[in-house]
Amino acid sequence: MKWKKYIAMMLASVMVISLSACQSGGDNSQLVGVSMPTKSSQRWIQDGDNMKKQLEDKGYKVDLQYGEDSVDNQVSQIENMIAKGAKVLVIASIDGEALTDVLQKAADNGIKTIAYDRLIRNSEHVSYYATFDNFEVGVQQANTIVEGLDLENQTGPFNIELFGGSPDDNNAYFFYDGAMSVLQPYIDSGKLVIKSGQTGMDKVSTLRWDGATAQARMDNILSAHYTSDTIHAVLSPYDGISIGIISSLKSLGYGTDNKKMPIVSGQDAEIPSIKSIIAGEQYSTIFKDTRILAEKCVTMVDAIFKGTEPEINDTETYDNGKIIVPSYLCDPIPVDQTNYKEVLINSGYYTEDDLK
Ligand code: BGC
Repeated sequence: MKWKKYIAMMLASVMVISLSACQSGGDNSQLVGVSMPTKSSQRWIQDGDNMKKQLEDKGYKVDLQYGEDSVDNQVSQIENMIAKGAKVLVIASIDGEALTDVLQKAADNGIKTIAYDRLIRNSEHVSYYATFDNFEVGVQQANTIVEGLDLENQTGPFNIELFGGSPDDNNAYFFYDGAMSVLQPYIDSGKLVIKSGQTGMDKVSTLRWDGATAQARMDNILSAHYTSDTIHAVLSPYDGISIGIISSLKSLGYGTDNKKMPIVSGQDAEIPSIKSIIAGEQYSTIFKDTRILAEKCVTMVDAIFKGTEPEINDTETYDNGKIIVPSYLCDPIPVDQTNYKEVLINSGYYTEDDLK
């Protein structure tokens, strides 16, 4: 039939037009490049998805890329975004010190950059920073340990070991400092004892937040210092690290009736950790609502496109070595067995089924 042939021809020409639009990059006047660090952690997948959806809902075009924890990958993905004609870059850096040159290139092309969750250091070309109150995250992590051990009422002493995040991530220092602001007085008074003696980010950090690296360090600490002693708590900065620490503890019989699982903190409210909390293994985590972070970041993108000023609530804390980056800090929320339903399920972040 004639009309069938006509429709087929129309479809073919639409395909040719859209193919050539794709090849030339189409109209990129509204293009936002979103560069995320890795898909190996659930939180960044949620961040990427939320950013893409919220930006697209506002009519922007999005190029979302994951660097898979390789700095070279991230840099070349950002270079690609610049080449495609992105107008704004949103970057959660893998190494916050490694983007100076590529941000210079972006600035030379009139492109503005927003640091997402992690501060980008050593560049004056960072327009805004959307993040959480990172010092408060550390305070909350340590508070859950104080509460889990009931340090206010118990005499102790209790044995604790400390884990830090990646030394190339500015946030890791804020988490550690926040936690130590709570724990140090107990350490000084002798109520908390660090048998390994390992303190300070130079000794306790975990490159690229890697769970296996943390597990290996926990194995070493347990075999060197806890063959005849019990460990009561572990400060862990991130759920993936907590899972590694808990595996190490389990392999030595912790988490059984006669060997209680220590109080282990965490961060990000990732599904495996919430399941672990429900099972009574990990003690706590910190929920950082990536929907809200994305929303705040999108208002920054919008402001850049429209030439207006976005809402900022911190103009003092985040000195990146070149400038103090105007920031918006969202609120973190501590989560444990008592409130995970209210915080995570009632807010629609997860369903009951996600946590089964
Ligand atoms: C983020 C944390 C996350 C960690 C590991 C940090 O920069 O702020 O939420 O746990 O990276 O991905």
